[in-house]
Amino acid sequence: MSNRKIDIRITQAKRKSIKMTVLSDGTVSVEAPDHMSKEGIMAFIDSKKSWIVSKVTQRLATGHCYNAPEGIDGTCFSYLGRECRLKINAAEGLKDSVTLRNGILIVTHKNNHPDEILEIIEAWFRQKTQEEVAFWLKCYQPHFSQQPNRVVIKEQRKRWGSCSSKMNLNFNWRLSMLPTWVVSYIVLHELCHFEEMNHSDRFWKAVEMRMPEYDKARQWLKQNSHRFLPE
Ligand SMILES: [Zn+2]
Repeated sequence: MSNRKIDIRITQAKRKSIKMTVLSDGTVSVEAPDHMSKEGIMAFIDSKKSWIVSKVTQRLATGHCYNAPEGIDGTCFSYLGRECRLKINAAEGLKDSVTLRNGILIVTHKNNHPDEILEIIEAWFRQKTQEEVAFWLKCYQPHFSQQPNRVVIKEQRKRWGSCSSKMNLNFNWRLSMLPTWVVSYIVLHELCHFEEMNHSDRFWKAVEMRMPEYDKARQWLKQNSHRFLPE
């Protein structure tokens, strides 16, 4: 069994109320008013236990570095916009595998250490993203004279894709978490940078010409990206 602890950092300062934040590394920061007693602070933290665990788990789901709490079994992930629940199948000697069946993401591994399980899940998402991107590139390629030089699936913390002047396309490995119609827009967007290396009116015209409803996907990303990208 994994027996990870959650790091809680308590500071006291001149402030009116107690504030709790889960930092990107999974540490919980508690800022308490200076007049509050240690017992009071501990009681507050205790009352927020389930909130803390769910927040830290959320960090895991978006691929953060973290000090994982015990047990991520049951965590929800999004695959192509559909919610799926993690089911860990852990036993000594089991080979790593990931199977998605009826909304359950079954991960088989020799133990249930959250960091090892999440590594397996990330590799699975990378693979799925590769397949999604390849599919949409094939769909849109006939509409472009230029071909990408290289297509790389990688860690990108603040963006979904990018296009370099050398015609290399980069995509965030989390892409396959998004609905497929949004993925298609992201791939098309990057391909359009072959024609316009900026976000000028001409660029958006190039996108619109191939996807008249592109703004729906753009708005969706504006509203939802934060749920998938690390803070
Ligand atoms: Zn762009």
